[in-house]
Amino acid sequence: MIKNGRVIDPANGLDKKCDVLIVDEKIADVGEIEKKAEKVIDATGKIVTPGLIDMHVHFREPGDEEEETIASGSAAAVAAGFTSVVCMPNTNPTIDNETDVEYIHRKGRKARKTHVYTMGAITKQLQGVELAEMGFMAEAGAVGFTDDGNGLQDPAVMLRALKYAAMFDVVIAQHCQDNSFAGNGVMNAGYYSTILGLPGISTLAEEAMLWRDIQLVKKANVRYHAQHISTAGSVELIRAAKKASLPVTCEVTPHHLLLTDQCCAEYDTNYKVNPPLRSAEDIDALKQAIADGLVDALVTDHAPHLQSEKELEFLAAPFGIVGLECALGLYVKALVEPGILSWPGLISLMTERPAKIIGVDKGTLGKGKQGDVTIIDPDAEYEIDVNKFRSKSKNCPYHGWKVTGRVEKTIVGGEIRFSAGD
Ligand SMILES: [Zn+2]
Ligand SMILES: [Zn+2]
Repeated sequence: MIKNGRVIDPANGLDKKCDVLIVDEKIADVGEIEKKAEKVIDATGKIVTPGLIDMHVHFREPGDEEEETIASGSAAAVAAGFTSVVCMPNTNPTIDNETDVEYIHRKGRKARKTHVYTMGAITKQLQGVELAEMGFMAEAGAVGFTDDGNGLQDPAVMLRALKYAAMFDVVIAQHCQDNSFAGNGVMNAGYYSTILGLPGISTLAEEAMLWRDIQLVKKANVRYHAQHISTAGSVELIRAAKKASLPVTCEVTPHHLLLTDQCCAEYDTNYKVNPPLRSAEDIDALKQAIADGLVDALVTDHAPHLQSEKELEFLAAPFGIVGLECALGLYVKALVEPGILSWPGLISLMTERPAKIIGVDKGTLGKGKQGDVTIIDPDAEYEIDVNKFRSKSKNCPYHGWKVTGRVEKTIVGGEIRFSAGD
């Protein structure tokens, strides 16, 4: 029994002080509950929400277990309030068949922290040529398909993939990047790439592919999800697509809301991400998009890398930063504090909305739903310390940032899997 919290359950239009009772791994009741319970958690002054969902993480297993494992990533996830995560398939080997999907699930269950889902690859080995075994992977429980890390370049292959995935009602997610525009770029193309002498990635790389994909969606009229959109132009494309009632959804990361390409000025590779950090105008457009309800999910794109790799020069270092264990505080800073989203608005984009995209029956506190609950102290201020991360990797540009909003407890299937101070 979780007593006296501010219970926010956007799917049921609920935002009030009350109790949540979990019985046998499931939500048994929400409201003013008089029953006695075996265990009582006092949530006075806290926010009680459906377990948070991050539909975009990289756990590096199989293949790069020195960077992250499903066990270490899962521990980081519950410490960050996430009761479900979706792994990306660009591991080594690629998750492009049912056996690999089952492997991720098995490892996730063994870790006993968060629910671990995975997307499968759209194309075999992310080569962009031959479709992977999407049907078998969907049957095995893959919650989407993506070639994340790459954009799928060939439009004919993409159209086939969209139509095929629709047969299983599983979403195709795209890392929008047209390689002919991206070239060998390592940061946003603009003033800073020019003065730093680094090859740039034009905003067109993202927008050209997103525009193309939307034309394909128009043809096929099937679900499509744009991953980590980063530019003002992408926002306008999404705006038009939604206005035309196309089944298009999109997600945004914290770094594309808080950091600009100016951060790359010291050649610090903890600012090297893909899509790259853009301009202040792009940030404004993304925030406006969120305020206007155009963004469907907030994600981390948690991307662990070894320190030795990130210590390479900017040109050679890999793209990506870890983001799980600071995500909530960063989203509060980027969206709640400036009044772009209310707490219920934020929770919606971290629970029910992503749950719908990946087609899992989660993200609400409805009776009978799985007992996944996150308890948040909305007033707790703290300093982000990468050395305290449970993630194996520390490539994170927010070390030392002060943020507000800390996860107190994470309950997965009725079991407390994380408590602050543990
Ligand atoms: Zn990506
Ligand atoms: Zn990614």
